[in-house]
Amino acid sequence: MGGNTGLIYSDDFMKYDFGPTHPLRPIRLKLTFDLLRETGVLDNSSVSIHLPRQATEDELLLVHTKEYIEEVKAFSKTGVGYLDLGDTPAFKGIHEATAMAVGGSIVAADLVMKGGAQHAFNPAGGLHHAGIDHAAGFCVYNDIAVTIRHIQRNYRIKKLALIDLDVHHGDGTQEILNSDPTVLTIDLHESGKFLYPGRGFTNEMGEGKGRGYKVNIPLPPLTSSDCYLRAFDELVPPLLRAFKPEVIVNQFGVDTHFDDPLAHLSLTTETYRELASRLHSIAHEVCDGKYVVLGGGGYKPENVARAWAIVFSTINGTTLSDKIPKKWIDLCREVIKRDPPTTFSDKYERTINNVERETITRAIDQTIMQIKNNLFPIHGIRQ
Ligand SMILES: [Zn+2]
Ligand SMILES: [Zn+2]
Repeated sequence: MGGNTGLIYSDDFMKYDFGPTHPLRPIRLKLTFDLLRETGVLDNSSVSIHLPRQATEDELLLVHTKEYIEEVKAFSKTGVGYLDLGDTPAFKGIHEATAMAVGGSIVAADLVMKGGAQHAFNPAGGLHHAGIDHAAGFCVYNDIAVTIRHIQRNYRIKKLALIDLDVHHGDGTQEILNSDPTVLTIDLHESGKFLYPGRGFTNEMGEGKGRGYKVNIPLPPLTSSDCYLRAFDELVPPLLRAFKPEVIVNQFGVDTHFDDPLAHLSLTTETYRELASRLHSIAHEVCDGKYVVLGGGGYKPENVARAWAIVFSTINGTTLSDKIPKKWIDLCREVIKRDPPTTFSDKYERTINNVERETITRAIDQTIMQIKNNLFPIHGIRQ
């Protein structure tokens, strides 16, 4: 399947910056762009590059309250204090910087919905912890929910799927979309028993009319690629095929990587190729290729850039050679002050012993079974 893929990027994305000691480092976005450029992927005739714009107040109001937006604007002027209990510090220009991340996701969605590209990627998006009237977990405005509401409003879309792959549960998005049966949300993450935000259990299935349309797949610490992909394959394709969305939105956080400093899953860059390839194929199968990919977590810039370069080139159908261009390695070393990996593939990964493997496998089996029992009948899927 040939590609036709838009990349949303501007160095303005780097203004979403909580300061030098904060774990979310905007340089990861520039490093992703630089890596795609140095590998030649961006020279491909099927790739187009688009500038983001700031989301308008009208667009932010699709999800957020007027009072909250005013509050963020006030923080944006002073640049002092925290927007939440301590994860999300204010800085001067925080309103404009977040509105740019949200606008980038809207630009990606418009491209896909208007046919300017079949697939589009906004690496600055994926801010899934922001709620209707509050910031949380490094997220100020929820670009995912705003983009989904924008698609519903402007393109008369009746059914939309959201796949959230970030290692953290997307609690903000869930809060906003919880009673909407027109959005099927499938959220794979490290179990809330072990990780922020402590939610996203299998019994959280949506409310009211939305019941049955919110699928949470919590995974135990140390879950490796084969276990993760088994859970994905057993649950995600059948649900997408049954629901038949008209477009797929995908939060592609890569803090699931084994080397990520903030969480404990054990995926590799190869897992991201597998996931991107599967979701890209399903998008072509069920919704004419309409596939909007957003960023998300990922706290080692050199891994995030490698992961997202793989995701983008996979979706576009471009094969990357494993060796990373020397120019990028030099660029990267300069900003992260250590040697980045020299290949796209991971040359080592976290190993687990047999007892750990057995415990993880059993926990995941149980989760898969619970979700199938709870949700497959609602969607008319035979087990
Ligand atoms: Zn395609
Ligand atoms: Zn995360």
